[in-house]
Amino acid sequence: MLKRDEWLDLARKLDWTFRYVTEEEVFPEELSGAPWLPHEAWKDWDEPYKDSYREYVQNQLEKDQSILAVRDAVGRMDDIKKLDPSWVQMVKFHHAPISLGEYAAATGELRMARFGRDSAWRTMASLGALDEMRHTQIPLLLAHQLVRIDPGFDWAHKCLHTNQWASIAARHFFDDQFTAANAIDTALQLTFVFETGYTNLEFVALTAMADKAEDSVFEKALTSIQTDESRHAQIGGPTLEVILKHDPERAQYLLDKQFWRCWRIILVLTGCGMDYLTPLDARPQSYKEFMQEWIVDQYIRQCEEFGLKLPWYWDTFLEELDCAHHSFMLGLYTYRSTMWLDYAMPSPDDKKWLREKYPDTWERYYEPIWDHIAAAWRDKGEHATLPYTLPSLCNLCQLPTAFIRPGKNTACTLDYNGRKYIFCSEPCRWIFQQEPIKFASHKNVIDRVFAGEAPTDLQGAIKWFEITPDVMGRDLYQGEYPWLNGTNGKGAKVASAD
Ligand code: MN
Ligand code: MN
Repeated sequence: MLKRDEWLDLARKLDWTFRYVTEEEVFPEELSGAPWLPHEAWKDWDEPYKDSYREYVQNQLEKDQSILAVRDAVGRMDDIKKLDPSWVQMVKFHHAPISLGEYAAATGELRMARFGRDSAWRTMASLGALDEMRHTQIPLLLAHQLVRIDPGFDWAHKCLHTNQWASIAARHFFDDQFTAANAIDTALQLTFVFETGYTNLEFVALTAMADKAEDSVFEKALTSIQTDESRHAQIGGPTLEVILKHDPERAQYLLDKQFWRCWRIILVLTGCGMDYLTPLDARPQSYKEFMQEWIVDQYIRQCEEFGLKLPWYWDTFLEELDCAHHSFMLGLYTYRSTMWLDYAMPSPDDKKWLREKYPDTWERYYEPIWDHIAAAWRDKGEHATLPYTLPSLCNLCQLPTAFIRPGKNTACTLDYNGRKYIFCSEPCRWIFQQEPIKFASHKNVIDRVFAGEAPTDLQGAIKWFEITPDVMGRDLYQGEYPWLNGTNGKGAKVASAD
């Protein structure tokens, strides 16, 4: 019998010369990507950690069995009902764009499995596609049983099928990154930037929180998914090496673009989720601290290792670590009725923690706004905390232009082909300018309002978003906060808004 290392290369890496068609016909540039290079340039493509189909199937079976075992042991309704209600919102927030986003990632992996330029890459991507289907099935399975106690879990499946604003932002991001990208662009954008970098934050840092929030089922699912991600993320490095040799500018652009796009979407989902939705005693670190550990340091190291420059907007990015998700969270709370989950105002203990974790910004800029919202609720009622107009949306990331930095509104505009575009930030505008043909004809929700394709008022928009009354986001405690009628958490009376 052959030993593993005697047959593995034949199973994972087997390329041959085409006789009846040209290589260009088998791997057209439109689908395989640019620069188009003969296979000779790709022949050393090699993934550090190798797997065969047989090993894969055996491992995955065991991983699935262990998730199901945890679910059977501690994932019953009664166990779920014991979780902190704000943590449950966090889980609902996470599942909605991610579950079917993973399914879209299967499309990206399958494109690489057919059009990737080396057989070892195609083998790894074939397993990657199976991974992403599993990452769709696991959260859908977990969320399905929870619909009975909270219809908001239905959004694990429904979200990406709607025109809800955050759903459009997620789709726009996924489409650019992998659903509508060729094999090379997908390898650099999805596997190198997103999976090698950002999914650590989503799956490793969030796992630490799930553990502390005593949500063993969510924790187990995230850990299990991450082991797949780190395997198929290996596609990024060897592909980047080849592109850097032949078109380093293209590589630098795709990485700079995608690092920003990931930052935008993840600060909304994970940033607000970690610092506001996760119960205080389940936060081992702040979002900024996790970002510094898992993204900033690691990305700097990676850039050095590959001889890449840091993105040109690096200083802007570092500055945003102290404010962007705090600004955005105010928007999420205020526009809660456009979402499928509930949000709470920060408690006095939350505020104390936020002041300590963000000493340069939180107390000075964000706390007075939360105090103002709390006072408005107390003195005038909930209606005084709700908006009546639609916000402006970025023509690139599709998110509200709500990433205000202290003393600076980051929104900017661009006139292109007779149309005026608005952006949440200069990096979003820069991305648009690099690929206007790809992005210019898209209409964001506000553009659709002006074109008469979407309702002009907030109530109409909520319906158009398919947010039904049973899932509509509310204040998690309906304003019943023990601290609301007394203090702002620092012992002083909140000034009346009147
Ligand atoms: Mn995945
Ligand atoms: Mn993946």
